Amino acid sequence: MAYKTKLLSVSDKDIGYAAKLLAEGEVVGIPTETVYGLAADAENAGAVKKIFEAKGRPQDNPLIVHLADVSQLEEYVCNIPEIAYKLAERFWPGPLTMVLPKRDRIPDVTSAGLDTVGIRIPYHEAARRLIKASGKALAAPSANLSGSPSPTSALHVMNDMNGRIPAVVDGGCCPVGVESTVISFENGKIRLLRPGFISAEELSEFGEVICDRHITEAAAEGEQVRSPGMKYKHYSPKANVTIIDGGREAYLDYVNSRGGEGVYAMPFDSDREYCKIPCIAYGDTSEEQAARLFAALREFDDIGAKQVYARCPSQNGVGLAVYNRLLRAAGFEIIKL
Ligand code: AMP
Ligand code: MG
Repeated sequence: MAYKTKLLSVSDKDIGYAAKLLAEGEVVGIPTETVYGLAADAENAGAVKKIFEAKGRPQDNPLIVHLADVSQLEEYVCNIPEIAYKLAERFWPGPLTMVLPKRDRIPDVTSAGLDTVGIRIPYHEAARRLIKASGKALAAPSANLSGSPSPTSALHVMNDMNGRIPAVVDGGCCPVGVESTVISFENGKIRLLRPGFISAEELSEFGEVICDRHITEAAAEGEQVRSPGMKYKHYSPKANVTIIDGGREAYLDYVNSRGGEGVYAMPFDSDREYCKIPCIAYGDTSEEQAARLFAALREFDDIGAKQVYARCPSQNGVGLAVYNRLLRAAGFEIIKL
């Protein structure tokens, strides 16, 4: 646990160094278009164990395996349905993860004992260069401490991982800002396990989409869930977060009458000028909100917020991903006005 964590650039030299660390079984923080990942050689069980240790991640929460090119798909998974190839053609490289039956070369620790594995091909340039340079498939969950908001900058990763891993590659801020859309397949249908930038609406052009219940509902204690990550408290800042579901006027009336020590609002940008208590706004469009949500939640920690009243985002398009993350950050505490 006593690394002197290096901050690397995306120069060829630094990418080469990061690739060498990965090939040697080390863990490296890497930028992707969604959030920063904590990467290791997906086929090296010892290396993958280090990811779980660095994050403090529960052993039953599987990792996503990142490839450089779609031509590698059949080396890692089998029984691939036709619809998966169509989705790959349309959305890869990009923020879509497909859960497919794994081949034996993927160790159990990577898939958390499941016989399936989530596969993604990122479009982020530095991530792709790094995967290629390492010559490995990279298992990578988000690079936060388990339970914290996901990191969308190298500084966020440093704050969580300093001393726990040998290096972080700084590729700037993540343009998407929320984790990938995760899907699985069931009799020709697409099951949406985790919403992301690729929306249910876009997926539905390729087949019927079943939205998993746990996207917007809390799992009961001990309940079986299809997407293990959905059962954990997640994305949480130290402050208590409450979602306020109402139009602008109702939201502002609510927060403006509740000021006090450590109390903050998290409104939309266009609400800000009417907000009478301290606030950190998180954008107006769903795309802006996705890109800024996690950084805003981390900022509330930095300023010592105790209570945050977040205005409820839209649930359309990528808005469903924003809503899904915010619900978990709020421990499902939502007030409908
Ligand atoms: P993270 O790496 O932190 O973005 O989390 C990845 C998430 O993807 C997990 O928490 C799961 O919910 C989901 N996932 C990954 N692999 C599988 C799988 N084989 N089956 C179902 N869900 C998966
Ligand atoms: Mg995560």
